[in-house]
Amino acid sequence: MAKKSSLIECSFCGKKNNEVMLMIGGMEVNICDECVERAHTMVDEERKLQMGAKNSAAFTLPKNIKPIDIKRYLDQYVIGQLDAKKTLAVAVYNHYKRIAQKGSEEVEIEKSNVVVVGQTGTGKTLLAKTVAKYLNLPFAIVDATVFTEAGYVGEDVESILTRLLQVCDYNVEQAERGIVYIDEIDKLSRKGDNPSITKDVSGEGVQQSLLKMLEGMEVLVPPHGGRKHPEQKLIKVNTKNILFICGGSFDGIERIIASRVQSRSIGYGADSDMTEADKNNMLQYVNQHDLKKFGIIPELIGRMPVVVHLDSLDTKALRAILTEPKNAIVKQYIKLFEMENIKLKVDEEVLDYIAEKAFENKLGARGLRSMCELLMNDLMFELPSAEVKEFTLDMSYTTRRLSGKQLKKLKAA
Ligand code: ADP
Repeated sequence: MAKKSSLIECSFCGKKNNEVMLMIGGMEVNICDECVERAHTMVDEERKLQMGAKNSAAFTLPKNIKPIDIKRYLDQYVIGQLDAKKTLAVAVYNHYKRIAQKGSEEVEIEKSNVVVVGQTGTGKTLLAKTVAKYLNLPFAIVDATVFTEAGYVGEDVESILTRLLQVCDYNVEQAERGIVYIDEIDKLSRKGDNPSITKDVSGEGVQQSLLKMLEGMEVLVPPHGGRKHPEQKLIKVNTKNILFICGGSFDGIERIIASRVQSRSIGYGADSDMTEADKNNMLQYVNQHDLKKFGIIPELIGRMPVVVHLDSLDTKALRAILTEPKNAIVKQYIKLFEMENIKLKVDEEVLDYIAEKAFENKLGARGLRSMCELLMNDLMFELPSAEVKEFTLDMSYTTRRLSGKQLKKLKAA
């Protein structure tokens, strides 16, 4: 009899009871623990989908906002980047008006997806994230490099929308007016300006697959992301009102811009009104032609009509990032120590020093955080158990902790 029980099979997956942790017996069927888990996930998703439809008020748009309000809000979190803030404020404002538009109106406002060009760590993601937070819209960040054309190893582009669905607990209606930030869009550029003869599955192929999604259509989305497979129940999402912000560093695009701008001005003397600072900030002139030259296909460029550039961060901007944003790094440390009843003071020269070193070593805004961690780690370790009520971070402590060797280590990271 004992032998017979070891032959019990799960009626759903066919596994034997010695292959699984638990087999639950029913009247005429058995189910193993793995199938119970799978069924539970499916029931959960279905419940969320049905609940989501009833519960679409969770993400509500703020009333009476104007582009200037969006910009003011961005100013609290993002340093500099004036042009980008204004352009983005207008783009999302119009997006907001689009969402509010009744379907029957004669003039249909078209979607203005945005492409943001700027070196890494200059605030591309921060801008997109902050704008979504202000508008109280679902927001998802995805990395373009994980996607490949259907049929190849990698993820289907449709799984971009999976992230958005997950953010709003599978509420399709909310996801349908969300904002998606696609990072590293430049890494999809086709190699060279000419269409390549060999198949480019992770670059141009993906750009092609993105076209319909960016334009606005019904997309069948795999609920868990990854690759779609035939037995899976797919979720239908309309991307008509989803705003796509695509960002990338577009390394080397300055050369393309410079050759366009300079070749235009030859013979007209216009080049002479270009200051040295202008020449060092070629990104400010970026346009759709440059993106095409860089390897973005014209059809995709056509679906991202707003082109925004971000300035690279100089010492002054880096200094401001340390202290000015609402959740600035230095403010965070002061708060952390306050919770220990310790008053932390930071000398002005220390802030100048950190910003200068971050700039000199090309560590960017991300490097500021790593530098501060390096500087504060021992203090955060020791001060909570020391009998101090106040600590001033001065130059002597800072230069000891942030030596050239340590900065080099950060640079390599
Ligand atoms: P990327 O341009 O690579 O998307 P991020 O937006 O992710 O860069 O920026 C990285 C981090 O650097 C942010 O989380 C933020 O702390 C800081 N940062 C970058 N640029 C700015 C800026 N202009 N203003 C304030 N903080 C910034």
